Amino acid sequence: MFFFLRKISLFIAFSIFLNSSDNLVGSTAELTPTKKQFRERTPLEKGHTNKHKTDLKRSLSAVIDFDGQIAMRHIENLTSFGPRSPEHPQAKLLTLSYIRSQIPPSMSIQLHEFDANALNGTNLWVSSRVEKKNSNTLIMIGTHWDTRSIADQETDITKRNMPVLGANDGASGVAVLIEVAKHLHSKPPSVNVDLIFFDLEDLGNVGNNKYAIGSSKFVKENPKYRPTAGIIIDMVCDRDLRIPREYYSSVSAPEVLARVWESAERQDAEVFKNVIGGAVIDDHIPFLQVGIPVVNLIHFPFPKTWHTTEDTIKFCRSRSLSQVGRVILDFIYHYDVN
Ligand SMILES: [Zn+2]
Repeated sequence: MFFFLRKISLFIAFSIFLNSSDNLVGSTAELTPTKKQFRERTPLEKGHTNKHKTDLKRSLSAVIDFDGQIAMRHIENLTSFGPRSPEHPQAKLLTLSYIRSQIPPSMSIQLHEFDANALNGTNLWVSSRVEKKNSNTLIMIGTHWDTRSIADQETDITKRNMPVLGANDGASGVAVLIEVAKHLHSKPPSVNVDLIFFDLEDLGNVGNNKYAIGSSKFVKENPKYRPTAGIIIDMVCDRDLRIPREYYSSVSAPEVLARVWESAERQDAEVFKNVIGGAVIDDHIPFLQVGIPVVNLIHFPFPKTWHTTEDTIKFCRSRSLSQVGRVILDFIYHYDVN
């Protein structure tokens, strides 16, 4: 991913961004209740008739038990395959195979394969569908699984052509999503959920490539795909994790962002900061450009290991992964409960 540093760049970039999509701002106005309304509809405040929802509401009051240590093990395994960039096809095969092996059998898996700029990419699309509960709500949670080909943020110029291992930038999001899948299997939510692992996010400005290739292709080649709301997570394991309200998310998907911060509050997830962060180009942008409200949860300002050879598990902590995992699950479990 990439961000705009200077205010003038940010203004120009966002103007271009807005002009590229007529229906961008305001497209989410009817999506969800406001924060205040959502609070008024919080579980246990009103009567309920459905046993499943009653049970669900009761269980929602409990703290979600998300195991950050297991997520750390996923990062360890994923990085053991080597860099997950186009120059390392074997590592990419092993990674896809690993993710597939971790997804519970109750969920369906589709591969979305695509070509872009003479590169082949694979998005892995996992679906968890509710049965007999008649929910039309579909939540999309995404992350990128690839890594950047070059460590171009290295201060040591002799290392700038080396690949990035992506413990944080890539593997951390995958680790959280795998564990989210297991939770959804053992405790099904009342909404439909897709977990999408995007390829080729992190090749921006490497050759002629742009950022977010895999998600752009996904949106373009699945024009009927319209999730109700979505979240992209990226770089979520750092020992000093700090997640402010990403700028484009705050402008184009404020209701979804408000719900995420409600979840952060419920879960006491202190890495979530109630301030506006930078304007980040990531996998949420292609969705926002077609009017789908998807927010980006990302460490900002980016940690020192960003796009360097230092992006290893050494700087990851289970407590960071656990907070993000709990917030994602809280968001999903509370989405349609009323
Ligand atoms: Zn990156």
